[in-house]
Amino acid sequence: MNLDQKLMDAAVAQLDRRWPAGQHGGAAAMYLEDGRIVTSVGFDNVNGGASLCGETGAICQAYTLGLRVTASVFVFREIGGEPYVMAPCGICQERLAMWGPDVQVAVPDPASETGWGVRTLAEVHPYYWAKVFAGGEWPPSSLHAQP
Ligand SMILES: [Zn+2]
Repeated sequence: MNLDQKLMDAAVAQLDRRWPAGQHGGAAAMYLEDGRIVTSVGFDNVNGGASLCGETGAICQAYTLGLRVTASVFVFREIGGEPYVMAPCGICQERLAMWGPDVQVAVPDPASETGWGVRTLAEVHPYYWAKVFAGGEWPPSSLHAQP
C-alpha cells in the first residue's frame, strides 16, 4: 500500500484518541504489506533515555506479525496547534530500513497543497551506512533480523 491521505488520517485519528484536540503529542500510522494499518504513539518518560518514538509501537506490531511495513506517517501537534508531519528520525529510519529502501515515509513539504510529501527511505537516507555489509546494495531483511 502506498502512502496516502487515508494513512495520514489514521495517524491524526490516533493522535486525537490519545491526546484530544489541543493537547501536545505525536502519533504514527503505517501500512503493512497486507493493507492493514497499525498505529502507535510515543512513550514519554521523565527519563528521556526511556522514552520511545511514536513509530516504535507500530514497527514492533509489524515485526510481531511478520509483515513488511510499506509506508509510514508521523504527525505531531504542539499545544493548541494543528498536527504537522515530521520525517522519521534517524533511529526510526534505521528501524524501518529492515523492510528495504522502498518503504515510503511522509516528509514535510511546504510547497505541496497538503504540507506533506512522500519519499522513499532511499531518498531520505541516500548514504545508508549498512550498504557496506551487502556489497553496496541496501541490505536484505535477513541481514537485519539475524538469529
Ligand atoms: Zn524516531
